[in-house]
Amino acid sequence: MHVTPDHPRYVSLSLRERLIQAHERGIVSIAGLIAHGRGEAFDYLLGEYTHGFAIDAIEAMAANIVLARHPVFVVNGNVAGLVAEDVVALSRDAPLHLEVNLFTPSAGRTRTIVELIEGLGGVAHTPEEDTATLPGVSSSRSSISVFGLGSADFVVAPLQDGDMVHALKKAGMKTATIDLNPLSRSAHDADITVVDNITRAVPLIRDAVRFLKKRSRKELEVISRFDKEGALHEAHRSMTERYR
Ligand code: ATP
Repeated sequence: MHVTPDHPRYVSLSLRERLIQAHERGIVSIAGLIAHGRGEAFDYLLGEYTHGFAIDAIEAMAANIVLARHPVFVVNGNVAGLVAEDVVALSRDAPLHLEVNLFTPSAGRTRTIVELIEGLGGVAHTPEEDTATLPGVSSSRSSISVFGLGSADFVVAPLQDGDMVHALKKAGMKTATIDLNPLSRSAHDADITVVDNITRAVPLIRDAVRFLKKRSRKELEVISRFDKEGALHEAHRSMTERYR
């Protein structure tokens, strides 16, 4: 489908097209296309821009990435289909480990996503290199890499169902998510929740990481604290106001 930039829904339609193409390349699953629709609905209610409560969360997330001993960013099909380039750039700047973890995996899809990341100059962990187990998630996702999630002290797990963040927290890891739905289990369970579209959030996280790398540990510790309940409350309020 060809959409010109003067179309009022250009950004939204372009993202749909990007995901459809990623599906055709074997990166995004059919269920992933449906999950994107849920995100779109919440983005519509947000007015499709990055709010102040998301900026605060992005700064806290970036400070935690810089402070962490072994930060890991979880890449699923939708993350790869939407923001692979930005995520690889972030992983190199931070530095940050990437781990491919899929809800509906197949050896082929995992390999396709790893090749996409490598083609962009990144490195991705997969459970195949050396497998550990994360209890509490459905069998395929419970296989994690010893060198990625298996060693993590801070995990960014965006666009996930609630089980993943819950299991990571139970395993003792500090967690962050990016999720347009402030009602989701992930949004409530994560220590830091960025209620924003991942396509807008990841470039901002990258900017924040570059800026915060120059700050002292003491300053970073202050910035890394986050009032999640307050941010979720603000997200609800913004959506309700727009709806009215
Ligand atoms: P939970 O179990 O936490 O309630 P869920 O069942 O809603 O989660 P999924 O259907 O797997 O989880 O969807 C993942 C989440 O990703 C959804 O909450 C959806 O709103 C969100 N999402 C989808 N696309 C985007 C996007 N582009 N940016 C940010 N969030 C998104």
